[in-house]
Amino acid sequence: MIPIFEQYLLLKERIPYFQLGEFPTPIKHLRYLGKEIGSDYLYLKDDGLSGQIYGGNKIRKLEFLLGDALRKGAKEVLTVGFAGSNHALATAVYAQKLGLKSISILLAQPNAQYVRRNLLLSHVCGAEIHHFKKEMTAYIPTTIMLIRKKMKQGRFPYIIGPGGSSPLGTIGYVNAGFELKEQVVSGLVPEPDKVFVALGTMGTAVGLTIGLKAAGLKTRVVSVRVADVKYANKEKFVKLFEKTLALILSFDSSFPRVEIADEEVDIRQDFFGGQYAGFTEQGMAAVKLLAKSEGIRLDGTYTGKTMAAFIDQVRGHGTKNEVILFWNTYNAIDFSDTIRGVDYHQLPCCFHQYFEEEVQPLDKNNSE
Ligand SMILES: *Cc1c(COP(=O)(O)O)cnc(C)c1O
Repeated sequence: MIPIFEQYLLLKERIPYFQLGEFPTPIKHLRYLGKEIGSDYLYLKDDGLSGQIYGGNKIRKLEFLLGDALRKGAKEVLTVGFAGSNHALATAVYAQKLGLKSISILLAQPNAQYVRRNLLLSHVCGAEIHHFKKEMTAYIPTTIMLIRKKMKQGRFPYIIGPGGSSPLGTIGYVNAGFELKEQVVSGLVPEPDKVFVALGTMGTAVGLTIGLKAAGLKTRVVSVRVADVKYANKEKFVKLFEKTLALILSFDSSFPRVEIADEEVDIRQDFFGGQYAGFTEQGMAAVKLLAKSEGIRLDGTYTGKTMAAFIDQVRGHGTKNEVILFWNTYNAIDFSDTIRGVDYHQLPCCFHQYFEEEVQPLDKNNSE
């Protein structure tokens, strides 16, 4: 049973949940990276291994969101993201596993090899995918599609917001904070001073912040912004924190009433590079270093940028005795066999551009 349910039985009784992943995820001492950058206290929590078919950070959220969809009797789920969205893919993979049809509304993004792979796997999983240039142009066609579905099937699909970062989805990472606490107690890792995590739609960082506090760890969350500041900022962070906590308390009022001050929200701004999914030199150098030193695969959109901030923290701040944990949010399961031989011409034609146009320059020699 997952740690928050063990400790708060009312949560177990009342919150929709369906187990999809493999938990607890392992912790690794980054011995070799540490040698390179001069610290013996670096660790990695590998949510890349959170699932058998497809890992990464979206599964913890989907256990609650798809659990809710099942409880509500949904037959279809609809979600949104950018073309290479790991979230849309994870939704497609696990919806299929539960016998639900999935529909993804996807927006244009910079091209990269992982975009191609993710699109092909979504297709193999039977997802219905739609492409739009911009958010604005997606609204009306999506609304019309939803109304058509309602008329034809008598109900709307279950809707999952961007990144699965609703208060309900965010509970997945509240639980992850408790999971880390158990691993600290059992001696797998010293209590971290800091956890570094990517900040996109924020459910991961916000959930961890609540979970670590409620579990009684001193660990502080450092969020590395990889999305536009319009979506990822302090005000929205605090709002999601409060909404998620309120939702948990509405199920079980004995849950700790943890608090957050604005000054406590530590968002690193300098690693984003100006564009979502636009790879950076620094981020790709971090991807290479992790591959070489530890054999761990990171990506250019999220975890490479976050690792760049992590390395900067260790190298630059003279805090060599700090215990710092990198929370890996990027899928580590190799699915190349599943998509081998799948022809991209089977995808709707607006997606062909990602296969026919070049990938962005910094992705060209990226073997990940
Ligand atoms: C979605 C995603 C994130 C960001 O998580 P949020 O909860 O949206 O902030 C980080 N890393 C990877 C690999 C992701 O796919």
